[in-house]
Amino acid sequence: MSIPTTGWSNKGGTADRACVCGTWKQHWINISENTWPASCSAEKCSSAATLGAHVINPAVDGERIVPFCDSCNKLSDTFTLKGSVSVPSANKSKTCEKKA
Ligand SMILES: [Zn+2]
Ligand SMILES: [Zn+2]
Repeated sequence: MSIPTTGWSNKGGTADRACVCGTWKQHWINISENTWPASCSAEKCSSAATLGAHVINPAVDGERIVPFCDSCNKLSDTFTLKGSVSVPSANKSKTCEKKA
């Protein structure tokens, strides 16, 4: 399944969630197996990526994590992601806390 870059929005109310990775930034690094990008994953945003944001898309199963800056994490409209970004699942029971 290919992941679209358009039509994403922030999933609110996730600030108190945690997983074994410690932070959602670390979760993104662990699950995507990529190095943390210098800039935010939102298209046309060049701010530093500081956190792993929970995002959703009607065309994609489940919640995903993307590297975002603080201001993009507060966007209430839909946004477009940079095409190169990995969007690993935020579902810890299917990723970092998966039972063997
Ligand atoms: Zn995790
Ligand atoms: Zn941004």
